[in-house]
Amino acid sequence: MPEGDTVFRQAAQLHRALTGHRLKSCDLRVPDYATVDLTGHRIDDVTAHGKYLLIHTGGMIIRSHLKMDGVWHLYPLADGTPRWRRPGHTARCILSTAEHQAVGFALGELVVFPAMELSQQQSHLGPDLLGADWDPQEAVRRLRSRPERPIGLAVLDQRYLAGIGNVYRNEICFLHGVHPATPVAEVVDLPGIVDTAHRLLQVNRLRSRRVTTGSATAAVRSWVYGRDGQLCLRCRGRIHRAELGEEQDRRRGRTDRIIFFCPHCQPQT
Ligand SMILES: [Zn+2]
Repeated sequence: MPEGDTVFRQAAQLHRALTGHRLKSCDLRVPDYATVDLTGHRIDDVTAHGKYLLIHTGGMIIRSHLKMDGVWHLYPLADGTPRWRRPGHTARCILSTAEHQAVGFALGELVVFPAMELSQQQSHLGPDLLGADWDPQEAVRRLRSRPERPIGLAVLDQRYLAGIGNVYRNEICFLHGVHPATPVAEVVDLPGIVDTAHRLLQVNRLRSRRVTTGSATAAVRSWVYGRDGQLCLRCRGRIHRAELGEEQDRRRGRTDRIIFFCPHCQPQT
């Protein structure tokens, strides 16, 4: 699942290829913006903020969110029309310069707004774990604003801190020996959890494969995420899988309600 580090890496790749180049074509395949055409404008920057990818061009910002299945691919145009690696009908945004074509497939959200509205459009987000202005104290303060909320849900809330998805929330809880259902008020080292989240995203932001254990071996790249039924790397007990979500998550069929944990290393209080 795309998390803040994935978006950061895709933004960095698009930035290297597109920034400074003019758009030869601009095709937005969502009804609200089908008539928006930024052809001829120079791409000024490509940035990430939490789980959003922002393309700055022509005084406007094209903002996308990958949600569950979205991805940006970059294709060189030197060899003619590229062969896409995803089905054409899932393409939502196609931006071409003289040398590259960037295609956003299955984007969970695509909006276009004037650059001057950026701070207003992003005002719902908490401190960005990978942002230059990362503010851990503010993230802790926001997490504590609802002390009764389970920590495993609070850290996913992008209004508190931006960038954590289901992989990191499970890994962070394991690393701190905290069951994801533990209320925020009962978490002893909340600043430590926030700091761990920051460090994990930082070290993974430019890696092609996410690693939280320090081992690049496929079977043990994570402590608990996706390892239900397998042995805990610390205590050799079995990793469990359960659901943790709020009612609206259940109704939407969201898969990020699945939690992974070791009952021995993360006892439920
Ligand atoms: Zn364990």
